[in-house]
Amino acid sequence: MRIIIFGPQGSGKGTYASRLSPLLGIPHIATGDLLRAARDDKEYGQKIRQYQDSGALVPDDIVLKILKKRLDQPDAKRGFILDGYPRNAEQAKELDKITTLDAVINLVVPEWVLLQRLSTRVQCKNCGEIFNLRTLPPKKPGICDKCGGPLFQRDDDKPEAIKKRLEIYYQMSAPLIKHYRDKGLVIDVECNSPDIPPEIIVNKIMDLLRTFKKVGGQGKQSDEDGHS
Ligand SMILES: [Zn+2]
Repeated sequence: MRIIIFGPQGSGKGTYASRLSPLLGIPHIATGDLLRAARDDKEYGQKIRQYQDSGALVPDDIVLKILKKRLDQPDAKRGFILDGYPRNAEQAKELDKITTLDAVINLVVPEWVLLQRLSTRVQCKNCGEIFNLRTLPPKKPGICDKCGGPLFQRDDDKPEAIKKRLEIYYQMSAPLIKHYRDKGLVIDVECNSPDIPPEIIVNKIMDLLRTFKKVGGQGKQSDEDGHS
């Protein structure tokens, strides 16, 4: 399946995507990681380093080229879960030109839940792994399970900063979700409590995907078969 996962910061998007990946047998492609790795790319690495090192965003056309390269790799032939791209309707249209999606998972999470979740979120200083003291605590307090690095709370996880980020997210994502809703690809996944363990949501998404696949999406054209 070729899937995109959308959700505001604090929605658990990355956590769910990384757990769905082995269950579905498809790679989790996070554009943040992808661009970090692409710093060593033979063709685009130098340009990407220039943008990133000067604090600028890597332009859309380069991101898309890197992404296309990644989607062309053998492990993505059966599908992928894309996380962090597209970020606006223009990018979505460009993405349509290089791949055909099967489903778009839209995490619907009330603001109070996001605020509670983000306030207990900690991140590894070394590898960037995210933990949540409430729902996804590290095995040893203050220490990353993955690499043993120190965990810290980000400055931008304060309520006012979060609210501002959410506002921007909803402004950007509304036309984006509409783009995919018009194609009948969107699966809304509601998450109305800050304390739901990730496994529960992941199982819910798996169930929704199975049903969605069976009925062939919501009004999706039937000629887009053959790559499940
Ligand atoms: Zn770590």
